[in-house]
Amino acid sequence: MSTPLTPSTPPPNDIEKDSQINTQRHTEVAASLNQNQHTAALEIPPALLQRYVTAIPRYTSYPTAPQFSEQYSPDHYRQQARSSNETLMPRNLSLYVHVPFCHSLCYFCGCNKVITQAENTQKGNHKVNQYVDNLLYEIDLRSTLFDDDRRLSQIHFGGGTPNFLNKTQLAEIVERIASRFHLDLPSRLEIGIEIDPRSIDGNGIVKLADIGFNRFSIGVQDFADNVQRAVNRVQDEGKTLEVIAAASEVSNSVNVDLITGLPLQTSKSFAHTLERVVNAGVSRIAAYNFAYLPERIKAQKLINRKDIPSVEQRMEIVEITRTTLLNAGYLHIGMDHFALPQDSLAQALQNNTLQRNFQGYTTNATTDLVGVGASAISQFKYSFAQNHTQLSNYNSAIAAGQLPIARGVTLDNDDVLRAHIIQEIMCRNSIDLQRNTWDIVEASEKVTLADYFSAELTSLERCIEDGLVEISSNSMKITPLGAYFRRQMASQFDAYLATNTHISPSFRSKHTNPSCQKSENVVKFSQAL
Ligand code: SF4
Repeated sequence: MSTPLTPSTPPPNDIEKDSQINTQRHTEVAASLNQNQHTAALEIPPALLQRYVTAIPRYTSYPTAPQFSEQYSPDHYRQQARSSNETLMPRNLSLYVHVPFCHSLCYFCGCNKVITQAENTQKGNHKVNQYVDNLLYEIDLRSTLFDDDRRLSQIHFGGGTPNFLNKTQLAEIVERIASRFHLDLPSRLEIGIEIDPRSIDGNGIVKLADIGFNRFSIGVQDFADNVQRAVNRVQDEGKTLEVIAAASEVSNSVNVDLITGLPLQTSKSFAHTLERVVNAGVSRIAAYNFAYLPERIKAQKLINRKDIPSVEQRMEIVEITRTTLLNAGYLHIGMDHFALPQDSLAQALQNNTLQRNFQGYTTNATTDLVGVGASAISQFKYSFAQNHTQLSNYNSAIAAGQLPIARGVTLDNDDVLRAHIIQEIMCRNSIDLQRNTWDIVEASEKVTLADYFSAELTSLERCIEDGLVEISSNSMKITPLGAYFRRQMASQFDAYLATNTHISPSFRSKHTNPSCQKSENVVKFSQAL
């Protein structure tokens, strides 16, 4: 039985459902969509990789998470929600639901998760039932903060393992969201879920579609047996492909997550994984690079250090990933994301509506993000807020009837302008520098972005020489080569990075926080290409 949440018509930009990928057709469409897009022939000179090896954030937010402070309270959040309602054109909302439970520990994982041995039966188990009740209560609390004209256009379940919850629990959460928020038109509403294929089968996917889920992101990582054993994530290739096929039957948008640089991985073994997911015809592939940080991520201490591929081997794996996906007709979206030209993410890149948030690249331009569940992050134009990460603290806050917000940051106008240009660099190939700052924030003086960021633009001189970017008084154009170095260019506009010498001393003393260099989202370029 389909619920009213199931879209009545498929979104117009989605790919046609083919059981077999038509590589030739994808390649032709890719070429016609953007002559400047990256082709497999594009070579990245090793000298450039060496030059831009540096510790920088992934810019899923600006300011980045290390700037969040415990001074930020639920009252700050309520104030921001009120302000967001009062703007001339209030933004749509997107909702993120965090489900922290996992059946077992993957040794590479840096996510907020709770390994739970007790089975979550049809009736649930005590711990999980309590969490679901708390989520429902938090959804109630949050929904009261937004006016009726705020439409909810995207719901995303992430984790942890969202499909750790049983069908009844997931349906109850989706129904509660639908009853408390004002949903966008069914044809525009995206309801996505991250899937661990080890604990679901094709029938389970169909049941999720019945609840209303229409976007699936499936964790694959690597099909090689020895790699899977080395990271304690053994998943059968055939079963995983069955889950991908089932998702492709019920959805036009299926993403697969892969990880490059895992222990014992080789370019040859990873080529097999790439071939399988490409042949499965998934519309999006995210090939994250493994950042080995055992001093910060406890689970990684269980990985044998000598099994980690060398920098040269890792580069080879990244390169084979890039060329395989481009040759198969996928477009490079940015950083580690690839999508077929018909996918809405590729369309968003073409239409200049691509955005970047805590879930990576997204099609949802200008929404305010509401995060519920342990560790979930919420976002307004002028603030970020994060929930308690420890399950016990989260449960206690809800038991006390409070918004479970633990930390956050309020942005000033300078932050918003920097967030704007960093977002543009991460998501666009052409950036309008004649745009007035007044269009972005109600700044006290009207200047162009070219004038406001003249020092930062000058600091990109070396990037211009290296062919990564072309800058005129009107625009900043990221070249196909530069698209692989977006973070490096964006970091020149980051006022919190201690390494940015172009920022004026007075500004730096106000903003610089030395701890930002220790952030989990700051990784070596060689680890994160
Ligand atoms: S990778 Fe996914 S399934 Fe594995 S421990 Fe992390 S959140 Fe859980």
